[in-house]
Amino acid sequence: MFPQMAVIEVTYIVNLDEVLCDGCRLCLPVCKFKGMISIPGERMPMVDPWSCTGCGTCVTTCPQDALTLRPKEEQ
Ligand code: SF4
Ligand code: SF4
Repeated sequence: MFPQMAVIEVTYIVNLDEVLCDGCRLCLPVCKFKGMISIPGERMPMVDPWSCTGCGTCVTTCPQDALTLRPKEEQ
């Protein structure tokens, strides 16, 4: 017998507006899914589209309104 598994289809992921982002990095520690990643030598984080679940936690954390949820197929 296999244990029951929940399959969640991700339809939205976060989009980072590089013009609005000031590199404060507040969004990095709030993501539990490693959807926001740090690039060595760069202040601005990057979205990992394979890990982001579209939970929206980082969106409400960003003081610059640089993060928005967008349909995954648009990215
Ligand atoms: S919280 Fe917003 S402004 Fe700060 S690094 Fe993340 S996306 Fe950029
Ligand atoms: S939307 Fe959720 S999963 Fe995606 S990067 Fe933000 S906090 Fe992480």
